[in-house]
Amino acid sequence: MITFDIITLFPNLFNEHLNNLPFKKAIQKGLIKVNLHNLRDYALNSYGMVDDKPYGGGTGMVLMIEPIYKALENIENKQHTILMSPSGKKFDQNKVKELKNLNQITLICGRYEGVDARVEKYLCDESLSIGNYVLSGGELPALVIMESITRLLPGILEKEDASSKESFENDTLEHPQYTRPEDFKGWIVPEVLLSGNHKEIEKWKEENSKKISDTDN
Ligand code: SAM
Repeated sequence: MITFDIITLFPNLFNEHLNNLPFKKAIQKGLIKVNLHNLRDYALNSYGMVDDKPYGGGTGMVLMIEPIYKALENIENKQHTILMSPSGKKFDQNKVKELKNLNQITLICGRYEGVDARVEKYLCDESLSIGNYVLSGGELPALVIMESITRLLPGILEKEDASSKESFENDTLEHPQYTRPEDFKGWIVPEVLLSGNHKEIEKWKEENSKKISDTDN
């Protein structure tokens, strides 16, 4: 069982996702547990202060270290703490496989201009970026990380081997997939996939997986 503890100013952003696959199934099966910690509950005053102006000047507000420190103090059995950050290490499928072996993961979601740099240095094990672009907050990155881990847990995907044939397994991308109809407006499915010749079909899948892997990335 993996426990995800999420520190966020917007816990409501998670609810719809947690009520749908793969999270819903994983929670029901007792494979994951998700605790949402509202950073506002750890505010420094009755006005709910969690951010302040950056030292040295600059636009916007920065999340303060103290509310985050207090939120972390309230989390039991912490094992691995990750800051969501555009400047973090690039998140990929190898990192998913590494993280899925943990029992507890804390994800800290930044907002506004970001987070006091001491949070990453003194309170986190690592910081992760989901790509070279800037989002308004760490909530979507946290969901991306949680979902990619959750769908690899045993019993979540329909077929046992579904994840082993997916993109990024064995450093390849998955071959293109088709379903009915065979012909839509003259756009046809590759003939070999309709042939019933399993050897030829496997060969086509392998070749096309390789073709995509060689051109993409
Ligand atoms: N001022 C920061 C900068 O230029 O790097 C951007 C802050 S961003 C608007 C607010 C928060 O969203 C960040 O602290 C981080 O938690 C999250 N965030 C934004 N983009 C992200 C990304 N690509 N990967 C992970 N987290 C991201």
